[in-house]
Formats: sequence, C-alpha cells, structure tokens
Amino acid sequence: MAKRRLNRQQKWRIEKVQGERAARATRTERNIDRQLQSGELGDEQTGLIIAHFGKQIDVAALEGERHGEIMRCHVRTNLEALVTGDRVIWRPGASDLGVIVALQKRSSLLQRPDKFGQLKPVAANINRVILVIAPEPEPHDNLIDRYLVAAENCDIEPVILLNKADLLTDANRPQIDALLERYTSLGYTVAITSTKSKTETDASIEALLTDRTSIFVGQSGVGKSSIINQLLPDAALKVGEVSQSTGKGVHTTTTARLFHLSCDGTLIDSPGIREFGLWHMSVEQLQFGFREIRPLIGHCKFRNCRHQSEPGCAITEAAENGTISIQRMQSFKRIYAEMEQSDWQASTTDTTS
Ligand code: GDP
Ligand code: ZN
Repeated sequence: MAKRRLNRQQKWRIEKVQGERAARATRTERNIDRQLQSGELGDEQTGLIIAHFGKQIDVAALEGERHGEIMRCHVRTNLEALVTGDRVIWRPGASDLGVIVALQKRSSLLQRPDKFGQLKPVAANINRVILVIAPEPEPHDNLIDRYLVAAENCDIEPVILLNKADLLTDANRPQIDALLERYTSLGYTVAITSTKSKTETDASIEALLTDRTSIFVGQSGVGKSSIINQLLPDAALKVGEVSQSTGKGVHTTTTARLFHLSCDGTLIDSPGIREFGLWHMSVEQLQFGFREIRPLIGHCKFRNCRHQSEPGCAITEAAENGTISIQRMQSFKRIYAEMEQSDWQASTTDTTS
C-alpha cells in the first residue's frame, strides 16, 4: 500500500516537472515567435557552438560586426539536438540573447550511448583524435587499439602522441620504440613530446592541431590535462568560469566545450570526450576498426566465424603468416572476448529484470 502511494506521488511529481518544462518551452518558443514577427531579431548569420548550458547555448559569431564575440542563444524547438562544434545559423535578439534558427551540415558526429543504450550526440565536426600515451602509466595495447577502433569507425583521423618523453630510459625505450613502430607500420602518424622538458626531437603539438578540430583521448595519468593547460593561453577560458555578463558562476558543465587555440587550431574537450573509445562497440565495428583486419571481413569460411580455431578463418591465417602482428592479434582477441562477455551479461540481465 505504502509502496503504491509512493509510486503515485512520484508519478505526480514527474508529471508536474514535465508540465512545467513544457510550459517553459512553449513560453520561450512564443517569445521567439513574437520577436521574429515584430522584426526584433537581427539578420541571419553563421556561428559555431562552443558550449551548452541546459537549454541555452553559447555561440561564437563567425561573421558580421560581432565576429568573434560569444552570444548566449535560445534554440527553436523544431531543431534536432545541437552539440558543441556544430555550425549554425543564428539571429541576434534584442536583449543580448540570440536565437539559433538552423543547423548546418556536419562533417562528423561523435555519439555515445546513454544509460539506456540510446546513442546521443556529444560533439560535431571533429576531424582529429590525438591519442596520448606515455611510458608511465605503461601503455596497454588493447586500450590503444580500442581508441583507434573508435576513431576509425567515426572516420576521424587518429594520431598517437607519446608524452613524457623525459621518462624514456634505456630500460623502457626498446619496448616503447617497438610499440610505436607497430603503429607507424600500420600507417598511423606518431609524434613524441613532453610537457616537462622539451628536446629538439619533440614534435610541436601545435603542428598537430593547426587548421583542425581535435580532441585529446587516452588513459588517465598520461598528461592530457597538462598538455591542454599549456595550450590554453589563460585560465579565463576554463570551464566553470564566472560569467562576464551576470557575474554569477556559470554552472560547471560536463558537456563538451570548444576552445580556439592561438595556432589556428580548435580543441573540443570534456571528461566525457576523454573517455571516447571506451564506449560500447559491436563486433562489426571492432573488425572494421583494425586496419589490417578490415580487408579480411567476409573472407572466413564460416559466416559466423568467431576467429578462434575455426577451419578456414581468414583472420587466423593472416595472424599465422604475419600480416597481423602478434600483439595486435592478441589485442583483437582480448577486446572481442570482452565484448562477447558484456553482450552475454547484458542479455542475461535483460531477461531477469
Ligand atoms: P591526465 O589524467 O591524462 O589528464 O594527466 P595529467 O595531465 O593530470 O598528468 C598526470 C601526471 O603526469 C601529473 O602528475 C603531471 O604532472 C605528470 N606529467 C604530465 N606531463 C608530463 C611529462 O611530460 N613528463 C613527466 N615526467 N610528467 C608529466
Ligand atoms: Zn574467422
């Protein structure tokens, strides 16, 4: 009985909140309509979404007299979900609040599954993934490969950046060199750097970022924050800063944030984005994401080959003749096994709930 009453109460509360939210959305939409009809809105122009704060979005003006300025905007409710990195058409409003009226075509879209397994857009128009590794914490092949598989499936060019070059020693260098060589021979660009002490062989990180929209990914502790902090000119750009217009703290957002860099590069960052690659993938995506395995898809004797010890397995054959390196094959098998395991767990949880 008590349980039922609680449920009714919860239901009532949810409906109330939803009702209020819908009313707010209607009010905003009516307000936008009124401004549109009374001619209060300025001309249509292009902009770039740099951050998200609930229903409001910060847009950097890409043209006109406000070029470079950041405008807080409302979004017309008929638009699909907008994300950081999106290019949009917006119109300045009367009270320093603009209105986004259209979304421009995306060249790429990063999506991640929410807790119900539904894909949700995270950031748009990214064209470079910088995968940071370091001598310490020791790199794991299968983790590197997961990030690469994710990038390949999103059609975003990955670059491997070895940070903490100052920690290379005679003891760990041979192993790291072999690892880097493995990826160079697969056609990946590899660069080396350090945030502590620069040497002449260190790559300029700026060169990797120029004229592109990049994200940094990689396991915790490899130095992503240190690199990003060096790239950003001052702390003013950091997420969670105090808003200039209201003087109030802008609530810290966990959604992606876009930064313009002095090297003419663009960086999108958020804790969620740094986990890119660790989101759930399918076996098809895994096979596609290994460059040397991709051409073998569909060549196994059995259509449902699991590439273990089946006869006529094209992937096992390629591993035996050295087309796939021992390490990459191990890593492929390990990720494959993890996937089967988690799919199995998901299916058994489904039936018991
Ligand atoms: P994140 O988790 O990838 O963001 O890594 P952090 O930027 O927080 O760095 C983790 C640790 O590595 C910190 O103690 C940094 O000071 C240190 N670190 C970052 N870059 C370098 C580097 O180039 N060399 C050395 N020796 N330490 C570094
Ligand atoms: Zn096979």
